[in-house]
Amino acid sequence: MTRIHQVILDLDDVLNTFCMSALHYHGVANTNYDYSEYPPHCGWDIVQACNWLRRKRSWPSEEQDGRCACVDAATFWEALTQEFWAATPPVPYLDTLITYLADRVGKDNVIVATSPTKSPTCVAGKLEWIHRHLPTWLHRNYMIGPRKDLLADPYSLLIDDHRGNCEKFEGRGGHALMVHKPWNYEVWDKHERHPIDWQYTTPSSIECGLYRIFRKRIEL
Ligand SMILES: [Mg+2]
Repeated sequence: MTRIHQVILDLDDVLNTFCMSALHYHGVANTNYDYSEYPPHCGWDIVQACNWLRRKRSWPSEEQDGRCACVDAATFWEALTQEFWAATPPVPYLDTLITYLADRVGKDNVIVATSPTKSPTCVAGKLEWIHRHLPTWLHRNYMIGPRKDLLADPYSLLIDDHRGNCEKFEGRGGHALMVHKPWNYEVWDKHERHPIDWQYTTPSSIECGLYRIFRKRIEL
């Protein structure tokens, strides 16, 4: 069994539903929580996913007329306001997950780590999100910055949905649990006709990963 003394928790798409919220905010997703709307073939590229969904929605009338305006990366990210970042819905299992982790490693050793965009508005909104949605004991247990891998050591666990973050963390000697999302889930069969139930697949990937590490069950 792996000995873990510290847990680094990603925020976007682990503790909240950022991706679908952003696509909903841009008017191309029906809800701010249903990951089955995300096109898996776009991988880790939310701007490409946004444009793909926009084309799908506008086809055939606008696209055939050449009037389907695509959004560039700068425009996509700059549109997200401080209130957007602060109000992104938390996942339904937020409290259960945090309580479980605090029971395993202690409150002082649970750290929320989140990478901001280049906008100061994003940094402020993420801090506001932490204050709005997380318990008081986590209000000073966070790191906002793109280098989560600097927190890695042989006793640390990163829980993240970004494969690159997990690989970098492991590359520096840490452990990683990758939360399954459409952009990182390679088990899915491209010829599979049945849609994946992300309300089940995402929490079950966390449940399985945490059991493998701590040998203590969690139900999300
Ligand atoms: Mg994330």
